[in-house]
Amino acid sequence: MKKITELTFNNTYRKLPEEFYHIVNPKPFENPFLISLNPQMASEIDLDAAGIDEEELAEYLSGKKLIPGSKPIALYYTGHQFGVYNPHIGDGRAILLGEVVNSKNKKWDLHLKGAGPTNYSRGFDGRAVLRSTIREYLCSEAMHYLGIPTTRALSIVGSDEKVERETTETGAMLIRMAKSHVRFGSFEGFFFRGQTKNIRILADYVLANLYPQYADNPNGYRLMVNEIAKRTGGLIAKWQVFGFTHGVMNTDNMSILGDTIDYGPYAFMETYKSDFTPNHSDHFGRYSYKSQPSIGYWNLNKLLQCLSSLLSADEIQEALGEYREAYAESYLGLMAKKFGFDWFKDGDKKFIDDTLELLEEKGIDFPIFFRELSGVTFDASVEGTEVKKIGKNWIDKYIERIKSDNSDEKKRKKSMDLVNPKYVLRTYIAENAIRQAIDNQDYSEIEKVRKILMRPFDEQQEHEQYSFKPPEGAEVKALSCSS
Ligand code: AMP
Ligand code: MG
Repeated sequence: MKKITELTFNNTYRKLPEEFYHIVNPKPFENPFLISLNPQMASEIDLDAAGIDEEELAEYLSGKKLIPGSKPIALYYTGHQFGVYNPHIGDGRAILLGEVVNSKNKKWDLHLKGAGPTNYSRGFDGRAVLRSTIREYLCSEAMHYLGIPTTRALSIVGSDEKVERETTETGAMLIRMAKSHVRFGSFEGFFFRGQTKNIRILADYVLANLYPQYADNPNGYRLMVNEIAKRTGGLIAKWQVFGFTHGVMNTDNMSILGDTIDYGPYAFMETYKSDFTPNHSDHFGRYSYKSQPSIGYWNLNKLLQCLSSLLSADEIQEALGEYREAYAESYLGLMAKKFGFDWFKDGDKKFIDDTLELLEEKGIDFPIFFRELSGVTFDASVEGTEVKKIGKNWIDKYIERIKSDNSDEKKRKKSMDLVNPKYVLRTYIAENAIRQAIDNQDYSEIEKVRKILMRPFDEQQEHEQYSFKPPEGAEVKALSCSS
């Protein structure tokens, strides 16, 4: 285990040509203080979290002091935002401090969000607010423990600096950890400026550093994009299955590794609604729950277009096919598990679709319904409010279906409970942690929620209330994009 000053860096991205980034140091807070340090992620970079001087640590984790070996840069990227190409994006309020290599030779980007202005800030302040850092911190951890690929968070550092948004808020910084911050949008700027050479340089970088298993293969690019397509399809299938809506699926928010990245106005589905759209500025529901799979495909298409100098038309079609296949396979496979089916039978897809329609028609809570479903037994005993709501007709059909598998009831329940979480990060749960932090400078709820979400599939009787529907008036509604 190491002190923060002893970390090992290998800043590979900074070795790329200068058009790929802009060299800039964080603009520190005057009085930074540590709000949260995630011990799991600290140990990922061999950082000794015990016996740490919190004041000093907060200075390092907010860029007031630079960690030896860190060489900060803001990354250049562009992208399609709500379907329209924007040539001016890039790290406008985040700075890559550097790439840490741990004792197992695994590399982690330390990306400081809210670090102040860069060349890409377009006149904005480059800050992040405490509210949004808590939302990202908790959700990226929740996603990880649900088994959904994601960036994660190392720390939140608070400040007394005021930040103007719709109201005046306080600034905070979060360190996001990812295996890489290359996005689909990282290729787009070079493509639209006609810089084919830089496309190849970036593709070679991704191949060598992130998909090294294909680096020496004569079909390396093809195999790499197929894998990117598969991972992206598999990722979005998981979002659907767990009711996660990202909110801002712009191409600059799509990771080249197929990880969930950029937590803004996301939300987990509560009452099932197929066109649920968490971002209140998304007036046409472009990024609604039901649109996510087709938007993933649209985004992949944009990436492949950028790579058309390296791929044949057939290879591009092949990758798109890989996406569709991976999505369908992963979605149906996981859905079958959620329903407790041993394997897929004729008619199961229709049964799943019909069930979701009924959930919507009857206003049923998505996570609770599935969690309760494992309690339905062959003798037609039904416990749980949300399952009861769906009606006897459906329950009879469901029992008939699970009986046809001839599987052991206890085993079925156990395996269903491993895919139907008891605890998801409902908006009101994050909101409570945020309120306590902002109103009372009490950060204990962040820690409590983080720990609960580390075991989403376990019955945690002492925390039962965190599995409840929101109290009246606190139902998930559209959220502001401003963060
Ligand atoms: P996001 O919605 O976080 O994906 O951000 C989209 C783009 O807007 C990125 O280029 C961000 O860097 C930039 N951006 C968002 N908020 C700010 C801010 N407060 N200051 C500077 N740039 C920002
Ligand atoms: Mg973004």
